[in-house]
Amino acid sequence: MLGNEAIARGAVEAGVQAATGYPGTPSSEIIETLAAWSKDYGIYVEWSTNEKVALEVALAAAYCNLRALVAMKHVGVNVASDTLFTATYTGVKGGLVLVSADDPSCHSSQNEQDNRLYGPHAYIPVLEPSSPQEAKDLIIYSFESSEKFKMPIMVRTTTRLNHSRGNVKLGPLLKVGKKGTFEKKPEEMSCLPANARKMRLRLINTIRLVEEHFDNSPFNSVCGESNIGVVASGLAYEYVMEALETLKAKDEVSLLKLSTLYPLPKKLVTSFLEGKEKVLVIEELEPFIENYVKSFCCDLDSKTKVYGKAFIPLVGELTPSAVLEGLAKFLNKKLECKREQKLAVEAPPRPPVLCAGCPHRSTFYAIKLAVKKRKVDAIYPSDIGCYGLGFYPPLEAIDVSLCMGSSIGLACGLAKFTGKVVIATIGDSTFMHAGIPALINATFNPSSFVLVILDNGLVAMTGHQPSPVSGVNLMGEKVKIILPENLATACGASFCKVVDPYNLEETVSAIIEAIDHVQKGLGPAVVISRRKCALTLLRESRDGKIKLVKRSINLEKCIGCMACIKLTGCPALLPSNEKVSIDKMTCTGCGLCEEVCPYDAIEKSGG
Ligand code: SF4
Ligand code: SF4
Repeated sequence: MLGNEAIARGAVEAGVQAATGYPGTPSSEIIETLAAWSKDYGIYVEWSTNEKVALEVALAAAYCNLRALVAMKHVGVNVASDTLFTATYTGVKGGLVLVSADDPSCHSSQNEQDNRLYGPHAYIPVLEPSSPQEAKDLIIYSFESSEKFKMPIMVRTTTRLNHSRGNVKLGPLLKVGKKGTFEKKPEEMSCLPANARKMRLRLINTIRLVEEHFDNSPFNSVCGESNIGVVASGLAYEYVMEALETLKAKDEVSLLKLSTLYPLPKKLVTSFLEGKEKVLVIEELEPFIENYVKSFCCDLDSKTKVYGKAFIPLVGELTPSAVLEGLAKFLNKKLECKREQKLAVEAPPRPPVLCAGCPHRSTFYAIKLAVKKRKVDAIYPSDIGCYGLGFYPPLEAIDVSLCMGSSIGLACGLAKFTGKVVIATIGDSTFMHAGIPALINATFNPSSFVLVILDNGLVAMTGHQPSPVSGVNLMGEKVKIILPENLATACGASFCKVVDPYNLEETVSAIIEAIDHVQKGLGPAVVISRRKCALTLLRESRDGKIKLVKRSINLEKCIGCMACIKLTGCPALLPSNEKVSIDKMTCTGCGLCEEVCPYDAIEKSGG
């Protein structure tokens, strides 16, 4: 079972009745798996507009005595954190489990953050599994613990666990079918200052009780007796087991496995430290456990030497070889050879590219043409989504990109403080997620910039989940489409045009008009560039729903100048015998190459 499927399975075995989230790698499959089971097990499942809303919907279910799960990637917790920090004050009735899927090494994320640190900051208990089996079991334990202490609980995972497979012993699935009931207790649920002060005291007291509970958790264990200790958590524990085997050092250390990370079970850890000469803490990213263990030693006035990041990398995903090397050094053992050998044949490096026919490529190309035609020196803030690949040559249409929705807020400031033409780009789902308040800000605190909304009708980057413009939700219900143009106008944009990015001329002239509009200081000008994701187009053409008019090269006219490849970067264009050929499997017939070829050598060629 995939780690994420094991998490979903654990939730159903625990009788979850509501599951919410916002798509984000590496967490997405949790909600998608639950959606597939939703009808059979009476679970309400939704992709919410953002993580804060997802947490609020799940929290409402937990207030109503239902078990609820909310899943998101690590940066999503930042969005949800405003609600999270107060949700721990009100507490819950039904169990509430927040799964934070962290992404060490930034495989598909804008940063590398360790969400275990939310534990002490928000006073939320944090647990971390070390295998798909434990992920399933720990979810059930988390629901039980959440209900016992009336507290939301965070289960932190990392990419390697979310996306790795392992054998999982299954338990019975539960169909609860309970109706939610909301019991009014305003003084315990309304965080007015007078109430919040009392809630904070309750919260701190609860955390103490949770610590005692974790001291006896079956998910923590000690094995071996030695005055040399190793402490490990999460996947690092599996790597340690492997490394000890390789080093033939199983009998030389005493190993403490921790799955309950905040509050760290002090009694268990301090009794483990007793009589230890030295201890190595092995964990991914921050020295979270290491710092606690050091502080416990300090409290005990212990002579035990505690190490961690001196031997184990602070940056990037932990690998079995990094653990092996760190452990070998710590134990003064010689390694015969490095485990990770160089591959005999290395794949040639390729920059990441937008798919062939991606409408974003045409939109970025149109933006660059419009800027060239108007001879302006533009600044390009962008956002989180496939269109982030517009950063790479030959498009190079992104100067700054931070987090969901930030392109528009940055555009407000950049236009105001530089007086230059600013062209922000954002996707339809990201606009709904966090872009709208920033666009309102541009009217409220007048700022004039061009906003191009790249609308492909779904969340393409994370696997084609529906967005509010899709007209259908995760439960498969037909729902009203929320059009970005209506929202943009309601936010105060006095210029708003919808274009088809495959129509280059129309798109360029709309962006030129938008530039003229903002140069007169008339407030934000919005261009919605609407076209289905190229992968959707290819699928629909394979299913016979649409007929694509593809392109081919007229070899008599082609002189092999390579302008089509150099200007568009489309991966369907392939150099061949000093000329170019077009890959029929991936070409969607967007026609951008036809527009850019100076020798009219690219022609329509049927399906
Ligand atoms: S998945 Fe869709 S939106 Fe993303 S790069 Fe490919 S075609 Fe473009
Ligand atoms: S731009 Fe036209 S002429 Fe030049 S290589 Fe491409 S198809 Fe051939």
